[in-house]
Amino acid sequence: MDSKIVLLPGDGIGPEVVAEAVGVLQVVASRFGHRFAFQTCPMGGNAIDSHGTPLPDETLAACRAADAVLLGAVGGPKWDDPNAKTRPEAGLLKIRKELGLFANLRPIKPSRHLLDASPLRREIIDGTDILFVRELTGGIYFGESGRRPHASGEEAYNVMIYNTGEIERVVRMSAAAARGRRQKLTMVDKANVLEASRLWRQVTGRIMAQEFPDVKYDIVLVDAMAMHLLSRPRDFDVVVTENLFGDILTDEGSMLTGSMGLLPSASLGTPGPGLYEPIHGSAPDIAGKGIANPLATILAAAMLLRHSLKLEDEAAVIETAVDQVLSSGHRTKDIAASGPSVSTREMGTLVVEAIGKP
Ligand code: NAD
Repeated sequence: MDSKIVLLPGDGIGPEVVAEAVGVLQVVASRFGHRFAFQTCPMGGNAIDSHGTPLPDETLAACRAADAVLLGAVGGPKWDDPNAKTRPEAGLLKIRKELGLFANLRPIKPSRHLLDASPLRREIIDGTDILFVRELTGGIYFGESGRRPHASGEEAYNVMIYNTGEIERVVRMSAAAARGRRQKLTMVDKANVLEASRLWRQVTGRIMAQEFPDVKYDIVLVDAMAMHLLSRPRDFDVVVTENLFGDILTDEGSMLTGSMGLLPSASLGTPGPGLYEPIHGSAPDIAGKGIANPLATILAAAMLLRHSLKLEDEAAVIETAVDQVLSSGHRTKDIAASGPSVSTREMGTLVVEAIGKP
């Protein structure tokens, strides 16, 4: 297979972890006889410095023409000024919207070799295997916002807005994913308070009854979900929710695994390229030290092979290699507790070697 993959290494540790994921994709290509053409483009803070905008037009055009996009992370203290004309995060929101990436998939499956890395007890998290699907291009992050005068000074507002079509497409994608897993879908909302949630409930109920009668469906209020995630995470299979709730719940969920450095995500729409990235940020506190954990980005590359290139066997080979490396005791600093650790490069090389010897 010939495929074009755009790399957006971004800022901070982004370039360090993306480099390791590229090494892994290259060894997969040579083992399975594929050709991946990589094109690196500016995005985030570095693009603000070089082009005056976090998402230059040429970067967006390259992404549109690609089969898939692999992103490191963007942002950092240099671009944090709240009064700045633009910020790295604006590039993230824009690329999601422009590529129509309406669903963000985040698998949360703690590694059996790292159960003690989680702040939760191992008997609570052991066996957890959740696929979170967060709606990504609607809701309060994209609704009307602004400020206006108020008797006390000012008032600020953000509008949470969803339409039927936006809900239908992400629910269908989630329910289809549940069919290939344990046939269970949970929808998280706040329908006791929010009108937007009441539309979610109505649309999701209809789609599930008409199109997915074989998938078990339940509804949980977002405040209750925040508790259930910590007390009974094993009970959930696929969880779908709107943008703001998903943003918060997926970060909470990431703690089940113990480290931000282990979790990948995929942002998908149809048709067109998907965007794959680790869930962590640019970690300016450790950038340049060579100690970042590259496994989340390597696992994001596995998701890229699975979802955009339909290379399931190749994706599984990467996931197995990561599991082997962890099972043989290798750890980057973030998951090493007080034990010995390997560098970003060494961890990448260990995964490459595990893939190289079938
Ligand atoms: P962060 O995820 O960058 O870091 C949080 C903590 O986790 C830090 O202590 C960091 O060292 C550690 N960490 C993160 N990734 C790691 C890895 N791979 N290996 C080892 N340790 C890791 O979050 P933050 O500090 O809140 O944000 C830093 C910058 O990243 C901010 O500018 C923020 O806006 C940006 N950010 C970007 C994205 C993105 O690009 N999608 C996501 C979140 C935050």
